[in-house]
Amino acid sequence: MSRSAHPAGPRYADVLPEGHYPAPPADLNALHPRVWSRTVSRNEDGVATVGGLDVKRLAEEFGTPAYFLDEDDFRARCRAWREAFGPDADVFYAGKAFLSRAVVRWLTEEGLNLDVCSAGELATALDAGMPAERIALHGNNKSAEEISRAVEAGVGRIVVDSFQEIVRVAHTAQRAGKRQRVQIRVTVGVEAHTHEFIATAHEDQKFGLPLAGGQAAEAVRRALKLDGLELIGIHSHIGSQIFDTSGFEVAAHRVVGLLREIRDEHGVELPEIDLGGGLGIAYTPDDDPREPQEIATALRAIVERECAAAGLAVPRLSVEPGRAIVGPTAFTLYEVGTVKELPGLRTYVSVDGGMSDNIRTALYDADYSVALVSRTSTADPMLSRVVGKHCESGDIVVRDAFLPADVAPGDLLAVPATGAYCRSMASNYNHALRPPVVVVKDGAARVIVRRETEEDLLRLDVG
Ligand SMILES: *Cc1c(COP(=O)(O)O)cnc(C)c1O
Repeated sequence: MSRSAHPAGPRYADVLPEGHYPAPPADLNALHPRVWSRTVSRNEDGVATVGGLDVKRLAEEFGTPAYFLDEDDFRARCRAWREAFGPDADVFYAGKAFLSRAVVRWLTEEGLNLDVCSAGELATALDAGMPAERIALHGNNKSAEEISRAVEAGVGRIVVDSFQEIVRVAHTAQRAGKRQRVQIRVTVGVEAHTHEFIATAHEDQKFGLPLAGGQAAEAVRRALKLDGLELIGIHSHIGSQIFDTSGFEVAAHRVVGLLREIRDEHGVELPEIDLGGGLGIAYTPDDDPREPQEIATALRAIVERECAAAGLAVPRLSVEPGRAIVGPTAFTLYEVGTVKELPGLRTYVSVDGGMSDNIRTALYDADYSVALVSRTSTADPMLSRVVGKHCESGDIVVRDAFLPADVAPGDLLAVPATGAYCRSMASNYNHALRPPVVVVKDGAARVIVRRETEEDLLRLDVG
């Protein structure tokens, strides 16, 4: 269908000027491999399957809404990152993207390390058997309790984020008779090409100590003087959902510049640098993310070149992908409850979840795609807005989506690429019960995080 043709349903050219609305995809039934995990396809009845299991059966067994996570896909992504970076680098999975005991076990088995940023994430990691030396603690305002639990557990590194924290970690370690390995988080003044609210390397933000103006260099001076600390390196994280490596190249250039200043001033060469996470994934087929191998090659080349120019030995490199590992591994399955056509405007398709299981559309105006998965359809494409069931008009799951014009109550819709920052940001808004995470592998499905119950909600309500 051409760009100027009107698909069935509302004339959305009435809403957007001619030529400004997206063209419907050529095949509404296609499940594009860029946005769906690797074991997703359709069976001969047209029902989507994951790990060999059809979504209608999965919905009957586990209910909707629910997240279905493809274990083979998760492990394959872990291996791709590990192999791309090789033995001279460490890959830290960012636990905030999605963390559970099962995830921690997979990471441990696949040779990845783990970033945590709270006592709760640390407890999950330790409980599931991640060795403490493979854990890094992050955060811009770690509590005294979080610092002491991390030091006592023996975490491999704490990434310190302020002058106060340098002193707090040093004292905590000294009291425990330890020397804590730390990195200093710096801001390098790189603006990643991404949405403003998830870009984190402008200098005007809460994370890190700016290189410009000398605060980062001052933090290094203070950390080097404290007996409780072993300063092992410099950390930079420039943002999220980034598609091109040029931001990382500037960050690496500036971080290596700081290493050179440290060598010149203090006569020490710090042995590690961490370039953070933030690698983008495909939420829609238009997104074209870089492969781990390509990222690894680019980052290694720039670090080696900068170190050679500065006369420094190449430090051990680490990276921290979260979204790029877990994001593409899961989809959210919903059931359609109502379909409301607003003549001349658009069609609202309401599902049985919403902003309580995926806040990213409301929070960041994030783009998602969606497909009818309980059947195929030959109906014309209809520009739709997939919305949730919450008492909030901003409760949008997919802002602009083409669905077949015959979509109806009882149909199952799936939103792909919801593995990262969906369950981990899920809320109980409207006393919604947070959905389960179901792992699918080799024709078997098992719950790794169960659905909340009303009993769970009421247990906290002790008034
Ligand atoms: C959030 C975060 C990450 C992971 O970001 P992704 O976009 O999920 O890759 C890595 N490192 C730090 C310090 C973070 O805050």
